[in-house]
Amino acid sequence: MQIRKLHLATKWFGKIVPSNLKGKKKSSQEWLTRQLNDPYVERAKIMNYRCRSAFKLLEIDQKYSLIQPGSTVIDCGAAPGSWSQLAVKHSNADGSKHGMPKGMVIGIDLLQIYPIEHATLLGNSDFTKPETQNKIRSLLGERRIDCVLSDMAPNATGVRSLDQENIITLCYAVLRFAILMSSSKASLLMKVWDNSEVVTLEKNMQKYYTHVKRIKPKASRDDSAENFLLGRGFVGIER
Ligand code: SAM
Repeated sequence: MQIRKLHLATKWFGKIVPSNLKGKKKSSQEWLTRQLNDPYVERAKIMNYRCRSAFKLLEIDQKYSLIQPGSTVIDCGAAPGSWSQLAVKHSNADGSKHGMPKGMVIGIDLLQIYPIEHATLLGNSDFTKPETQNKIRSLLGERRIDCVLSDMAPNATGVRSLDQENIITLCYAVLRFAILMSSSKASLLMKVWDNSEVVTLEKNMQKYYTHVKRIKPKASRDDSAENFLLGRGFVGIER
């Protein structure tokens, strides 16, 4: 990774300051400095996760056991792939937990996703498009989903209200798919950016899940509006 190649010249009040920032935009300088000082970035490298987001799912899954051996998991917005990496392990899609049922993991992203053993990845695919959802349906066959994950985030336009509208649209696409395709008692975890629409989304989730809560994992940066909505105990459409 590029960051590894950076010459770390100065340790300044315990903060690592990269030395070769000359000519880089201020936003890039800030990003590099933040990455170098982020303990989750370093831990992700050590543990071979593709990005620091892994620790958000790890924390939530450790607490709520969303993914069990044998679980069928859909990971929306999967690139670069750390959530799918975890889902493969926890669902036993790789068969590493001998004697336990094997799960299935399908990851989808607008971007290309480098292969992850034992996961089926649909790169260059927009989750909101009917053709993508049809592909997922045909991969599932008779299976129902036990856990729907969405860490999807639209590209920020810089116009706050528009960005918020875009992420809420993604969330409703995920919720709709989860309602149609989930098994009884399934879970749904999705990223939101805190705004007034989230309350309505939470209320809509409560129609289909017995427990709904908002979570801010420790690995989620304090200065970010990012939160996660977790629904557990899918009750189906009839309720
Ligand atoms: N959870 C991922 C991981 O652990 O590697 C990181 C996900 S990243 C924060 C958000 C991803 O959502 C981006 O890769 C982006 O391309 C994807 N995304 C945004 N809109 C999407 C859409 N409509 N369909 C599929 N993926 C989308």
